[in-house]
Amino acid sequence: MEKFRVRFAPSPTGPLHIGGARSALFNYLLARKNGGDFIVRIEDTDLERSSHESEENIFASLAWLGLDMDESIVSGGDYGPYRQTERLAIYQQYTEELLKRGLAYYCFCSEEDIANERQAAMDKGEVPKYSGKCRNLSTEEVAERIAKGEKPVVRFSVPHDQRVVIDDAVRGRVVFESEGIGDFVIVKSDGIPTYNFAVVIDDHLMAISHVIRAEEHLSNTPRQVLLYEAFGWQVPQFAHISLILGEDHKKMSKRHGATSVVQYQEMGYLPEAVFNFLALLGWSPGGEDEIMSKEEIIAKFSLDGVAKNPAVFDMEKLKWLNGNYIRQSTPERITDLAIPFLQKEGYLPTEITDEQRHWVNLIVQAVQEKIHTINEIADFMPLFVDETVNIVDEEAKSVLLDEDVPIVMAAFRNKLAALENWEAEQVKKIFKEISKETGLKGKKVFMPIRVALTGQMHGPDLHFIIPILGKELVAERLKQTLGE
Ligand code: GLU
Repeated sequence: MEKFRVRFAPSPTGPLHIGGARSALFNYLLARKNGGDFIVRIEDTDLERSSHESEENIFASLAWLGLDMDESIVSGGDYGPYRQTERLAIYQQYTEELLKRGLAYYCFCSEEDIANERQAAMDKGEVPKYSGKCRNLSTEEVAERIAKGEKPVVRFSVPHDQRVVIDDAVRGRVVFESEGIGDFVIVKSDGIPTYNFAVVIDDHLMAISHVIRAEEHLSNTPRQVLLYEAFGWQVPQFAHISLILGEDHKKMSKRHGATSVVQYQEMGYLPEAVFNFLALLGWSPGGEDEIMSKEEIIAKFSLDGVAKNPAVFDMEKLKWLNGNYIRQSTPERITDLAIPFLQKEGYLPTEITDEQRHWVNLIVQAVQEKIHTINEIADFMPLFVDETVNIVDEEAKSVLLDEDVPIVMAAFRNKLAALENWEAEQVKKIFKEISKETGLKGKKVFMPIRVALTGQMHGPDLHFIIPILGKELVAERLKQTLGE
C-alpha cells in the first residue's frame, strides 16, 4: 500500500486559527495512526497578505499543540522546498507544459473587461464565468502583445461537458459539471501561481496521499481534479471537514471570542486540553470517553468517525476538559505556567527568588482543584495577598456572632502561637486539636476561622490558605475582623 502522506498547508496571513489547527490535527492524527508522514507546507502566494510573523506564529502554535512534523520549512525533508514562493520555477515549468499542450492559454482581458462580463451575465440571470475570449488568440498575437509589454494571466482551458466526480471521505460522492466552471486563472499577471494551480503541483510532487482540509475548499476541488487529469496524475483521497460553528450556530468568528491558538495559550489553557478538545470537534471516537490522551486519540482516530455536519465550539466543554488536565498535572508544572501570569498581573517581579517560587507552589496547591484555566489563579490572589479583609456577605457576618466563636478563636490563636512549622499538614492538625479541646466539630470550628481570615464562607482549604498568609497577615486579618 502507498505510504500515508498528509499535509497541512496554511497561508501565513494571520495567526493559526482554531479551524486551521483542527485541520492540522486531523492530518496529524491520520499520519500518526497509519505510520505516515505529516508535512507542513507554507502557501504564501498571496504576497501582500503573507508574513514571516504569521509563519512563526503558525509553527509556534503547532509546536505548542505537540504536532511534531516530519517535513516542513523548519524540519526540511526530501520533497522541498516547503514554501511556495521558493517553488516558482517548478510552477513555471508546469505552466509551460500546459501551454505547450494547448491546455492553457494567455489571457489579456483586463480586470475591467472581466468585471463588465460578469455584470452582463448577472444582468441576464446567468452564473458568471469567463467567456473564453482569449482562448483562440494566435501565437503571433500573443507574442506581439507580450513583446509590447502587456502582462497576461494564464488560464486553464476547462474541458467541455465533463463530469467531475469526487469521492470525498467525509462528504461522500460529490459531482460537479465542468460546464459550470469557467477557464480559471492558474498564473497571475505577476507570474505568481494561483492557489488552485500550486496546490495540485505541490500535492502531486510531495506524493500526498490524503488531502484533509476545510469544507470551504470543496468548491475548489473540481478545478484541482481537472488539473490532475490534465497532467495525468493520480488524484489524492480528499476529505473535507465541516465548518466550526459558534454556540449560536453561526460560523465561528472573532465575535465568538478567541479564534487563534495563541489566545487560548495566553488565557491559560493547556496544550493537551486544546488537543483533546479539537480532536472532538467533528470527530467522534464512538464511545463514552471524552478525556483521552494523545496516544489514545491517535489509536482511535479514523476518517470514518469524522462527521459531515458542522461542529459546535462549546467553550464550557473546553473549560471542563482544561480543568481536568490541570488537576492531573503536578503542582510544579502548574507553578511554572502560573508564574508568567502572576508576573503579568503584577503579583510577582520579573526575576523571582526560590522563596517566591515556593509561595506560588503553595498557592497552586490551594487552588489547583478549583480552577479551569491557569489565569483563574489571578481571581484568587486577593484572598492570599490583600492586607484588608471585608466581610460583605450578611450570612458571613452572622457566623462571627455565634456564641462559640470567642472559644474557637482563642484556641486558634493559642495553637498558632505555638506553631513552629507553618505547613499545610501541621495546620491541619491544629483543627483536630481545637475540636478536641473545645468539643466543637466541623463547621463550628472552621467556619468562624474561615470568615475571620478571608471574609468569605467558601474558598480553598484553610490548611492551604494559612501557610500562604503567614504569621503577620494572619494576625493582621484577625485584628481587623475580630478586633484586639
Ligand atoms: N492555503 C490553503 C488555506 O489555507 C490550503 C487549502 C488546502 O489545504 O488545500 O486555506
